[in-house]
Amino acid sequence: MNIGFQPIYQLTQEQVNTWVEEGQQRSQFGQLPSYIPQLAQVNPQEFVVKILTLQGQSHQAGNEALRFPVMSVIKCFLLLNRLLELGEERVFQRVGVQPSDQPFNSLKQLESDGGWPRNPMINSGAIALAGLLPGKDADTRCQYLCSWLNQFANCQLVLDPDILESVRSAPNAKNQALVSTLAAAGYVEHPEITLDTYNQICCLSATISDLAKLGLLLLQPTNLPWEIASRTVKTLMLTCGLYETSGQFAVQVGVPTKSGVSGAVLSIIPRQGAIACYSPPLDQQGNSIGSLFFIEKMVRTLNLSLFN
Ligand code: GLU
Repeated sequence: MNIGFQPIYQLTQEQVNTWVEEGQQRSQFGQLPSYIPQLAQVNPQEFVVKILTLQGQSHQAGNEALRFPVMSVIKCFLLLNRLLELGEERVFQRVGVQPSDQPFNSLKQLESDGGWPRNPMINSGAIALAGLLPGKDADTRCQYLCSWLNQFANCQLVLDPDILESVRSAPNAKNQALVSTLAAAGYVEHPEITLDTYNQICCLSATISDLAKLGLLLLQPTNLPWEIASRTVKTLMLTCGLYETSGQFAVQVGVPTKSGVSGAVLSIIPRQGAIACYSPPLDQQGNSIGSLFFIEKMVRTLNLSLFN
């Protein structure tokens, strides 16, 4: 028996509200990202949380109707989709499973690895996997992933044309260099379509409920291949999901977690449920300060670490 184990059902709305308030205060020390102009214009005080359990329990705080781009949180679901459609062998011919201590868009890391993308949770790895989505162009490829997720997670992701326009208005030299290096090393075939696909899937927008429902996809396997693929995704979220902070967060908190530069963060509590958070100000590594604070508080208070 696991002494001290307190499942999510003990969570109270009062705790949720208190941690949201504390998280909001801490987020004042963060910065909005400036390299995607529209992300620099959002309300930094926005703080939205949704917790969904496998038993149907739900807790929330903040504006549930608010839509935000999922950004890098999509990397988990791109990986899930590609594993299920192509199988592990083909996916891991294109991307590794090694953590990186370099920033999420590091060209230095990719170059020092000879053009081999380290893992699917950093930009190089996700760009390589975006190159494996089916379809003749980026629009079709993005739409394919979006429909697949909406169908299986019962959510309503949509491409946000304004944020996509904003991404395109300030071409990201780092991601362009990553895709060229990947192409030169033979890990990407159509660099332009691939980068456009990657940009589009990062601009899929969600409500906080959509994000939590996506999390449940990793907890409700309908068959054995799904179970194996979601286990792989959760493992890589734990080891690589928060970029160079992943190891520290695994020790301090201990649940698979993926962040996005919009301030969206998704954590999975194996066998129990999903925590979705959105709070835009980021720390130096590009992770949402408020969201990580909330998740840490909840996981530690309720003893939800995987390693308890
Ligand atoms: N589209 C963003 C980028 O490539 C995603 C990064 C992130 O969310 O961490 O810069």
